[in-house]
Amino acid sequence: MTNLKGKAALVTGSTSGIGLGIARQLAGQGADLMLNGFGDAAYIAELCQSLSAEFGVRVAHNGADMSKPEEIEAMVAATEAAYGRLDVLVNNAGIQHVAPVDAFPVERWDAVIAINLSAVFHGTRAALPGMKARGWGRVINIASVHGLVASVNKSAYVAAKHGVIGLTKVTALELAESDITCNAICPGWVLTPLVQKQIDALAASRSLSVEEAGRELLSEKQPSKSFVTPEQLGELAVFLCSEAAGNMRGAALTMDGGWTAQ
Ligand code: NAD
Repeated sequence: MTNLKGKAALVTGSTSGIGLGIARQLAGQGADLMLNGFGDAAYIAELCQSLSAEFGVRVAHNGADMSKPEEIEAMVAATEAAYGRLDVLVNNAGIQHVAPVDAFPVERWDAVIAINLSAVFHGTRAALPGMKARGWGRVINIASVHGLVASVNKSAYVAAKHGVIGLTKVTALELAESDITCNAICPGWVLTPLVQKQIDALAASRSLSVEEAGRELLSEKQPSKSFVTPEQLGELAVFLCSEAAGNMRGAALTMDGGWTAQ
């Protein structure tokens, strides 16, 4: 068990999908939470209240747009102001756009790089001074199998995720003699809204049912033929917060149903 009681965690993009799964597991270990991400105000208020009631921790939300460096900086400051500390930063927010390189909209390229890569830099840069002052920290970057291998039509996403793994290594090396670690998690397919859009597009283009399209998506890349879950990824994040993981530095940890073993 990793006791995070008295510690505070900021998980970007945690109103949905993997970020929410990770936030739940960190709260389960006692961490106070700063959630981030888009969503209906009533849904977000209910989410904060239900997580707080379920786990007995403090839960707040900051609506920073992860494509805006000044909002990211302000969110880190707001977390430190709310809890007096920020111990665990999970850089998770991400978007996808699918198109061939020569038809890739420039505006989508810029948005994917800003949210999936530059935001990791801005969040980390803002969080490190406090972690260094307190002498302990965990930076966990949600990369992807696409940080290690490529797929067609995902140029911006693959470039950003490879960049996240490079940034993870540099951050880890710069902190190697401290109690602050930085590692990346590389999931394969996880059934979240981000992937549901790709399943729906496949179903439409091949005249398949949504279930058939989901099976098709998995069988193309993921040998386990089952989706990785946000709960499994959350457990891995909790492990990275433990003292047992204190000398894991700059790792890119796959949880991908065998995708990158092929
Ligand atoms: P999701 O669409 O379910 O959730 C994305 C979250 O990011 C949401 O909370 C959304 O509101 C937030 N977000 C998006 N743009 C934002 C912005 N500009 N500012 C603030 N918040 C923003 O996606 P997911 O599948 O849970 O993805 C989470 C992370 O995991 C991403 O970095 C993604 O690349 C990565 N990932 C996902 C998969 C997968 O199969 N789902 C696989 C590998 C890696």
